Amino acid sequence: MSRIFATSIVARHSIAENSVEVVFDRPPGFEYRSGQYIQLGLRSLLHRDAKGPSRVLSVSTSPHDTATVAVAFRESDSGFKRTLRQLAPGSEVLIEGPHGFYTLPRELTRPLVLVAGGIGVVPYVSMLRYLTEWGIRIPVPMTLLYANGTIERAAYLDELRKTATRAPGFVLRHRIGLIDRNFLERNVHDPRGCAWHVSGPPAMVCHVRNLLFHLRVDEARICYEEFSGY
Ligand SMILES: Cc1cc2nc3c(=O)[nH]c(=O)nc-3n(C[C@H](O)[C@H](O)[C@H](O)COP(=O)(O)OP(=O)(O)OC[C@H]3O[C@@H](n4cnc5c(N)ncnc54)[C@H](O)[C@@H]3O)c2cc1C
Repeated sequence: MSRIFATSIVARHSIAENSVEVVFDRPPGFEYRSGQYIQLGLRSLLHRDAKGPSRVLSVSTSPHDTATVAVAFRESDSGFKRTLRQLAPGSEVLIEGPHGFYTLPRELTRPLVLVAGGIGVVPYVSMLRYLTEWGIRIPVPMTLLYANGTIERAAYLDELRKTATRAPGFVLRHRIGLIDRNFLERNVHDPRGCAWHVSGPPAMVCHVRNLLFHLRVDEARICYEEFSGY
């Protein structure tokens, strides 16, 4: 159930060029599933922002992590993000949530393909942390197809590469540039037999949706998360 929680900033670190993860104390009672998002609110803005003092952001931590909860985003000149970059550890923020249904299927019965454009990788980072932190065996083959404009902007790439070497059943395929049909066909041998998650900026999600349509993947097997605002 969605509620509003007051909490404070613990840390902030770079996860790629122009990309930041901000970590908060996990408020007691804040329960979520990997893949869900929150509305993050700032008490006051240091810079004007026409969209106001809050944004919708996916959670990057694992629900197993009882101490902290984190979000990650691309930096921009919006008043919200400029303020969030400047707030000192200890500053109070508001978390409203959790929201969304972009979670792992409760029953994993077929190979799962996760497709991420840029910062759209955040929900998958939470899912993979959740599955691997406690040594849970990934129950079905899982492939992450991850695309970025440049290698420098590939958030969490080192962590994902380490996960791929440690977690049997998990394969990472990273690409510089757009996800195209050739990339899908090279890395997914039976597209119609898989369950699909597609996450990223709306234009990227729309593009991959068209590719899957042409590969005749059943719409019922595809989940989408559009990071509107990009
Ligand atoms: C379900 C869902 C999950 C999401 N998860 C994430 C996530 O995990 N991470 C993430 O990063 N985003 C996520 N988003 C998108 C997020 O909510 C924001 O819309 C997005 O991060 C852009 O916010 P912004 O503050 O940078 O840009 P906006 O304020 O929306 O501005 C748009 C653009 O205008 C420019 N701009 C704005 N104000 C100024 C100014 N004063 N001067 C100059 N330029 C300006 C900014 O640089 C930006 O590029 C999610 C969205 C949804 C719907």
